[in-house]
Amino acid sequence: KADVALYHAKAGGRSSYAFFGHEMDLTLAMRKGMEQDLRNALDATGRIQVHYQPLYAADTNRMTGVEALARWSDAERGWVAPDLFIPLSEEAGLIEKLGELVLRQACLDAVDWPIETLAVNVSALQLNNPSFAMRVTSILLETHMDPRRLEIEVTESALSERRSECRNNIEALRSIGVRFALDDFGTGFSSLGRLQTLEVDRIKIDRSFVQGFGHSNGDEAIVQAIINLARATGLSTTAEGVETESQCDYLRKLGCDQLQGFLLSRPLPKGDLQELFGGVSARASA
Ligand code: C2E
Ligand code: MG
Ligand code: MG
Ligand code: MG
Repeated sequence: KADVALYHAKAGGRSSYAFFGHEMDLTLAMRKGMEQDLRNALDATGRIQVHYQPLYAADTNRMTGVEALARWSDAERGWVAPDLFIPLSEEAGLIEKLGELVLRQACLDAVDWPIETLAVNVSALQLNNPSFAMRVTSILLETHMDPRRLEIEVTESALSERRSECRNNIEALRSIGVRFALDDFGTGFSSLGRLQTLEVDRIKIDRSFVQGFGHSNGDEAIVQAIINLARATGLSTTAEGVETESQCDYLRKLGCDQLQGFLLSRPLPKGDLQELFGGVSARASA
């Protein structure tokens, strides 16, 4: 299908396809088509779903939380990757609607789950909207979700703007107990030194560092430095993208607090996740 080309173009570098003469019209038309499909999906029920990836305490192997991840299943396209439809939602002005749908669904699902933390991703555009804190608060009330169980994941670039709307939203939500995590840490603009000035409770170490263990010179040292600094500053750490036992062991040795990755569990639909609650912790100690 022609759309596949667009997926790859988008994945390889945003809008890189826009420079090729008449192809531009074609891809713009496809893009508009996808935008309309996404719009329709947001108005339908069940087209946008939420999957949950478990988060494990590194020392006890206990599942302490989940990260909610948006999933879009389109009748013709099949599953569309979030790395494609999240930027599309942002560009099309649909991210607030999508974000609220995910947050509401995740709160409804997780309210009775035996875990402390529900982590939800939020885009910079949402954070800069003056009514963001109020909207989140009303969803928490409506779903009876304890604000202290919600952890909002934001990227470094979202915080780097330091817009007053963004600061106000974070302050308002923190005052009712909502926590914040810095997602994909290490890939953005923040220096380690700035960590102390950001209003976050946790940093999530980007999976590129974890996956560089044993291959890329210095990734071990970088992760060690991030974990040490986080500890010294009173922040918790999560390692993303844990795929092998040796990465797992090494992160434990470095003193990482929380682990997330395909080795431990893939993102799961609600029903499959709930089956895990029946049993013991997912993995035996290393
Ligand atoms: P993220 O927040 O960093 O989420 C983690 C991503 O890493 C997820 O990709 C997850 O499936 C993937 N992952 C987890 N463990 C492993 C592993 O061991 N190996 C590898 N290779 N990947 C792993 P996913 O679900 O495709 O989401 C991609 C990104 O899309 C997310 O990255 C997040 O930035 C964004 N996203 C997803 N859902 C939402 C949402 O509801 N709102 C917003 N604003 N962004 C979202
Ligand atoms: Mg995340
Ligand atoms: Mg991440
Ligand atoms: Mg990511």
